[in-house]
Amino acid sequence: MRNKPWADGYIKAHSDYIVTDPKNWLGKWQDRFEKKQPLNVEVGTGKGQFIIRNAQEHPEINYIGVELQKSVIATALRKFMEAPLPNLQFVLTDGADLDEIFLADEIQKIFLNFSDPWPKKRHAKRRLTSPNFLKNYQKVLAPQGDIEFKTDNRGLFEYTLVTMNHFPMTFDYVSLDLHQSPENETNIETEYEEKFSPNGPIYKLIAHFNS
Ligand code: SAM
Repeated sequence: MRNKPWADGYIKAHSDYIVTDPKNWLGKWQDRFEKKQPLNVEVGTGKGQFIIRNAQEHPEINYIGVELQKSVIATALRKFMEAPLPNLQFVLTDGADLDEIFLADEIQKIFLNFSDPWPKKRHAKRRLTSPNFLKNYQKVLAPQGDIEFKTDNRGLFEYTLVTMNHFPMTFDYVSLDLHQSPENETNIETEYEEKFSPNGPIYKLIAHFNS
């Protein structure tokens, strides 16, 4: 997405709903919500459709959308401000820092949707399902917590099955064609999913850490 000149000012003006200094909120995230309740986090939240719809459908859960790009998260925030909710916050940061932002066991569920595939081998460490990222997710996920991952990229899906299996993690759900499966009835689509699902299948998995 191109640089958006309005993004900086917009983010500053809506600091009740977006955090740009997340390390200062370590241990205090629940103070930013109306109610203290379970916390789900999406890493690479993009323009926000998925996390906003989740927050609308589940007022009993608090949500945080983490996104690396300022202009992208500002677009998500603008969509959210059309009808703000007390159970959703946005955080402008790198998902690689998750373990410096959240306490151990603080998160119930991590969503990864249509993460950048980084197909070149030398960029594998940047994939959000590479072992280094998994290590961080394990620290911040509650013992009963899990990761939900969706993608249209077969190569990234295969890579993720292998890295999670080696970690080791256990798969609770795997679909090679989510939109043709019964689970699609409750599926909340992301912007990328809407755009790219006509071109081929959407892959999904849910997995938890073994210990
Ligand atoms: N999840 C959205 C969707 O499905 O429509 C966006 C998908 S887009 C392909 C991937 C997004 O992840 C981009 O907005 C990108 O900026 C963000 N992203 C990539 N690496 C990230 C990281 N390390 N931490 C946070 N966000 C990241």
